[in-house]
Amino acid sequence: MAEVDSRFLLRVALHTAEQGMFVFPLWPRTKVPALHGADQCSGLGVCAHGHQGWEARATRDPELIRRWWRNWPLNIGVAAGRSGLHVLDLDSAHDAMPPREWAGARDGWDVLARVAGRAGQPFPGDTYAVRTPSGGFHLYFGAPPLVELRNTVARLGWRVDSRGSGGYVVAAGSLRPQGRYDLVADRPIAALPAWLVPLLLPPPFLEPPVDQAPTGWYQAGAVSEVRKNAYLQTIHDKVAATPSGERHHVLIRAAYTLGRLVGGGDLDAQEARDCLHAAASRWRGRLSRKDIRTIEDGLRAGAERGRSLAS
Ligand SMILES: [Zn+2]
Repeated sequence: MAEVDSRFLLRVALHTAEQGMFVFPLWPRTKVPALHGADQCSGLGVCAHGHQGWEARATRDPELIRRWWRNWPLNIGVAAGRSGLHVLDLDSAHDAMPPREWAGARDGWDVLARVAGRAGQPFPGDTYAVRTPSGGFHLYFGAPPLVELRNTVARLGWRVDSRGSGGYVVAAGSLRPQGRYDLVADRPIAALPAWLVPLLLPPPFLEPPVDQAPTGWYQAGAVSEVRKNAYLQTIHDKVAATPSGERHHVLIRAAYTLGRLVGGGDLDAQEARDCLHAAASRWRGRLSRKDIRTIEDGLRAGAERGRSLAS
């Protein structure tokens, strides 16, 4: 049995890596990482220059995967952040009653449906999805490009967690005593819907749009980096989602807006340019010379009327 499982799980690990995910071994029939932890580090081999945890060691290299999975029926961990993923983890109720705020919800799926309803958005279910042995679901999404999303626990609501940077999920095909992780929707992994991004950021970063932001919300230091990136993400998503008839207009306004922040010293010109180039190249799969010119014109005009987010 173990031998059959071992061959099967090796194939699953290779297949998962072929799909672009970084994998690492979990002990058989568990979700516990099988690579040594920092407390048991010998400081040898891969750890010769400091301990390497599962996130750093997760791989897509078929040779390494064959070596890891050769003799053991190991489960497969997917390093979410390393793989560019943010995975929504919709748990079952586990026989518990929801708190009053979520009264009537049966599980995390119901709660996410309500969160989407309140936001006036469709249920974000059109993506790669795995059912867990305990009856929950993992919805896989591409993480947003400009802001780092870490793991969340119940931030979206009761029984809704998520796994991003610093987190992992058990891959489809893995075995637990209760059953298997089943791929129930083999769809392409969708980008995380833009409306979910601010809801997944830590609460202090739920800021009003910059034009209505109260004085002083943007402060120097490490925190401002996260806020700045969230702001760039918002601009990026707005520009990228613009329908074809309005693109020139929206792009010049976005460039002008970011140009003012460059002029005020809150933003590096290259960061502004990178954000707008990334957004506009989503329209036709590449940047046109006209878009590049529009961006430069907007940035230059904005920089002449510099403003700071802090004032
Ligand atoms: Zn180590």
